[in-house]
Amino acid sequence: MKGSIKSLLGRIVFESRLTAILLRNAAVIVAFHRVQDTAGSDGLTIGVAMFERYCRFFRRHFRVVSLRDLVHRLERGLALDRDLAITFDDGYRDNFENAVPVLEKLSLPATFFVVSQWIGTDVVPWWDSAQGARHPWMTWDQVRSLHRKGFDVGAHTRTHVDLGQVSEAEAREEVVGARLELEGQLAAPVELFAYPYGGRNHLADANRNLVKAAGFRCCCSCFGGVNAVGTDPFHLGRIPISPWYASPHQFGLELALGMSVQSP
Ligand SMILES: [Zn+2]
Repeated sequence: MKGSIKSLLGRIVFESRLTAILLRNAAVIVAFHRVQDTAGSDGLTIGVAMFERYCRFFRRHFRVVSLRDLVHRLERGLALDRDLAITFDDGYRDNFENAVPVLEKLSLPATFFVVSQWIGTDVVPWWDSAQGARHPWMTWDQVRSLHRKGFDVGAHTRTHVDLGQVSEAEAREEVVGARLELEGQLAAPVELFAYPYGGRNHLADANRNLVKAAGFRCCCSCFGGVNAVGTDPFHLGRIPISPWYASPHQFGLELALGMSVQSP
């Protein structure tokens, strides 16, 4: 089915408030990567105007909460009702420059999972390098500013390793080290964690336990559908928002139909 038709169907489903029934007792966590108008073909970039459309869609049809609040609700088995948490991965500078002004304008909370050893550097990750692209990271001043503004900063390892592959010693350094580095820079506790790549095979069981032992309160993947009361905070599903969706309504339709897809 074409994106435009799905968008129309999504509009009908969401405007009819059918989703109030479909998504009752559900919590959705969405993941963005880059928010900028220089389009990339890697599925990781959302334009600034489209990002704002998503935010308005979330605000209209969900109860937008911080991931921290959502984890708190899951830890205590409290009721969920179309809760939605907005997250960003990796620490791209466009998050600070383009997404934050929109979030502030709409008073929406969000969590930024940053790669601690890349902040303030000119490291080019392999996936950007493969596209011949170079996208700057936030500076530590910008990360601290996010924290001061009331956004949450979470850990995403020190160097974006595949926690399904590395040795236990390396995993420990990447997970515990990221927490210590972020806490040192922010002078505040860092309790939220999302593992790099986010697929089913990108986190060994032992390393998930390591995340827990390191003092984090959650562990986010980057696949899966909605979370429910009873979902273990260390097995949180997230849904990547990709430009593959023609509109927020198409995303909403796929979500309501349980057809959300894994990021490329
Ligand atoms: Zn990542």
